[in-house]
Amino acid sequence: MGFLEGKKILITGVASNRSIAWGCAEAMHRQGAELAFTYQNDKLKSRVTDMAAKCGSDLVLPLDVSRDEDIDALFAALGEQWDGLDGIVHSIAFAPREQLEGEYVDAVTREGFNTAHEISAYSFAALAKGGRAMMEGRNGALLTMSYLGAVRAVPNYNVMGVAKASLEANVRYLAASLGPRGTRVNAVSAGPIRTLAAAGISDFRDMLKQVEERTPMRRNVTIEEVGNAAAFLCSDLASGITGDVLYVDTGYHILGLG
Ligand code: NAD
Repeated sequence: MGFLEGKKILITGVASNRSIAWGCAEAMHRQGAELAFTYQNDKLKSRVTDMAAKCGSDLVLPLDVSRDEDIDALFAALGEQWDGLDGIVHSIAFAPREQLEGEYVDAVTREGFNTAHEISAYSFAALAKGGRAMMEGRNGALLTMSYLGAVRAVPNYNVMGVAKASLEANVRYLAASLGPRGTRVNAVSAGPIRTLAAAGISDFRDMLKQVEERTPMRRNVTIEEVGNAAAFLCSDLASGITGDVLYVDTGYHILGLG
């Protein structure tokens, strides 16, 4: 029996079989969780539907986090199918491509800053708000995906790092708000992984190479490894952990640069 047996978990952010959200879904499915999925737009609908089926799920719902009506409709639809919710995986981020290259001070604009924060950080609080009634009193967990750029100035990561700092603060504030209702809130800070979102970051290949050369384990992390950590954090095995950021990055974050 898997350690997520009997848990109902919503997975957001699947865009391809390289998505970190897909690593989470597969790991959680292996551990016995019942899953629901969201897709960002019609272009992704059939792909996400096919992938959901591989996890035994036909619960696949639209969600563009920039639309409040989508968030309301998502939890209304989920409430018709499920009598409660034990977990939400938030694996969503976006910043306009021109924000993710060159010097931060040159690249940042008001619009780019607002978009990055709305889609990548506010959306986590919005999902927490939308899902809290269904999660009440079930020892559930919210989980989001962060990156080292939240706490270090990483070349080209720019405004996305500032949004990840906001996301990590969001984790702490949501953990404090929802802890009394029995819901835990954490983040995984993953090392760089080649995904569709990562392709938008200038010189991403160099980031992968630098990690491979310097990190204690001398290799990059996989979506399976991030997924396994996510499954743990959403399970009762992690019942004493909230408000935290768990690094799953083959140890890169411990290094001093010099
Ligand atoms: P991905 O492209 O597979 O996933 C990003 C997802 O965000 C997509 O499914 C996309 O549909 C969704 N999305 C974007 N805008 C949206 C919107 N308005 N509404 C709903 N969904 C929207 O890439 P990924 O690398 O798996 O990214 C998932 C998360 O992991 C992101 O938060 C990312 O910042 C984080 N992360 C990625 C890496 C990496 O190197 N790939 C490292 C650390 C953290």
